[in-house]
Amino acid sequence: MKVAIYSSTTQESQRLKRMIIQGLEQNQIEYDEEHPTVVISIGGDGTLLSAFNHYQDQLDSIRFVGMHTGHLGFYTDWRTFEVFDLIESLKNDSGQSVSYPLLNVDAKFSDGTKKHFVALNESTIRDMVKTMVCDVYINAELFERFRGDGLCISTPTGSTAYNKSVGGAIMDPKIVGFQLGEMASLNNRVFRTLGSPIIFGADAVLTLRLNDDSTAVLSCDRTQLMLGNTRHLMELTYSVAKQQIKFAKFRHTNFWLRVKDSFIGGES
Ligand code: NAD
Repeated sequence: MKVAIYSSTTQESQRLKRMIIQGLEQNQIEYDEEHPTVVISIGGDGTLLSAFNHYQDQLDSIRFVGMHTGHLGFYTDWRTFEVFDLIESLKNDSGQSVSYPLLNVDAKFSDGTKKHFVALNESTIRDMVKTMVCDVYINAELFERFRGDGLCISTPTGSTAYNKSVGGAIMDPKIVGFQLGEMASLNNRVFRTLGSPIIFGADAVLTLRLNDDSTAVLSCDRTQLMLGNTRHLMELTYSVAKQQIKFAKFRHTNFWLRVKDSFIGGES
């Protein structure tokens, strides 16, 4: 086992990072930020999203562990007073993991360039100034012309994040697929969209073609793509990624318990 720590910059996260590194040394567990097999994220869900982004090209060999320093996070199972329990679990680890689906995002720009991203939570396409207009293709067939603020395309574990705020369904992460949600669509006698979220299966390909004068902005988890004046987004293609994210299973709270804890709370 080779462990890396990816932490937020707060004093508390940095203190915990030092404590964990000390615990690793005492137990002869190797620390390796370049090629780790376990990445411990210390902070909030946002920190875990950044850790995922940082180690995106090594997903096959990495298992993630989340420690939350703020309020309860969705991807973070360990609390700050559990550092010694975490070291014990690393020592006794049997290598098991739980995996969740991810989203491929392929963007084409007006200058002919292309960019590929992988999202853990979601990708959004939004226009802050004017109505976003785009043609929505499902498996290469034109489905509808969307007009509105934007669209949110989320993974199953991302379905509890932005997707939930735009009225999407919570998806069991055992379902390999992704979800399309509308943001403030225009619906009247002239313009029409489906008006409800769509959940796609493992083989589906969703394509969005934007107008030539589009000023829409693309986001992928925490990253927003800055375009400038010389090029704009032409086409976006979404599909289930080949890779999955793996979390170490020595403690990984059941998804539905997590949903209950985060959104309902109270005694069981
Ligand atoms: P952050 O850690 O501050 O996260 C923001 C909030 O989203 C936190 O409360 C976090 O716990 C929660 N969150 C993140 N992923 C979640 C998930 N999979 N399920 C349930 N809750 C989750 O850091 P950040 O950089 O602001 O986080 C980026 C994420 O914030 C985006 O991926 C997006 O999902 C979410 N977001 C939501 C809205 C919205 O709901 N209107 C708007 C923008 C961004």
